[in-house]
Amino acid sequence: MSDHETTHVARRMVETDLLLGLDQVVRRHGAALPVEPVVDEQPPEAPVADKVAAVVPEPPAPRPDATPPAAPTGRLEPAVGVERLDGESAAERLTALAAMHAAECPHCTASTDHTNLVFGEGDPQADLMFVGEAPGANEDRLGRPFVGQAGGKLDEMIGAMGFKREDVYIANVLKSRPLNNRTPLRSEAEACGAWLASQVAIIQPKAIVALGGPAAKLLLDTEVGITRLRGVWGGLEVDGRQYPVMPTYHPAFVLRQYTPQVRREV
Ligand code: URA
Repeated sequence: MSDHETTHVARRMVETDLLLGLDQVVRRHGAALPVEPVVDEQPPEAPVADKVAAVVPEPPAPRPDATPPAAPTGRLEPAVGVERLDGESAAERLTALAAMHAAECPHCTASTDHTNLVFGEGDPQADLMFVGEAPGANEDRLGRPFVGQAGGKLDEMIGAMGFKREDVYIANVLKSRPLNNRTPLRSEAEACGAWLASQVAIIQPKAIVALGGPAAKLLLDTEVGITRLRGVWGGLEVDGRQYPVMPTYHPAFVLRQYTPQVRREV
């Protein structure tokens, strides 16, 4: 029984005792204990609830489920250190990284259902980076992230923030379409996520937006669901550097739940 439940039960027991006018509490083992003469100590007109409060303090309110956790922080080890990559500029290093990823990623070189790898695209020196879950059918066909319906919604979200798509960098936790389009397994996210960490280390964005549960869980290293995580800054450490992470709903969820509340929250 939790502390809160124990306190609640104790309060109810004392309340019952007071209502029944008992002046003894019978212990299961040992002698009967006199109840402190709470009733007599209180002014006679004091309501029972006040007398109970004098005996058992009010328990703290239970944490409502919607309360967000305090800023979670994750840490990802890059698959390849920036210093190992050929190229002077971030753009050149990203190109070199994409080639290494295609040849070496333990997830994307194994059993996935993909036609094309979807490495990511956008400004190699973007201040703002978006991380989704995994390529869908359209992305798989074109080899580009967020080009289907969800992509249209993401473009709207980016526009609403005062940016254009080409101002930001867009990537996914997985760079290849998962088997049967299912949600990435944690092991897959970690294997492919190391390459995402290398992208972050090259781009060095000022902030990262995690789109949906799988991205938020990987970047923030948590099992807390996106409904509780969203809207609270967390962090990601890569190569000893901290990146602020803002988790929010995935654009596909916004399309499905097109309510004023979800739109406001996003
Ligand atoms: N959903 C994602 O998470 N990523 C994409 O690239 C497309 C759809």
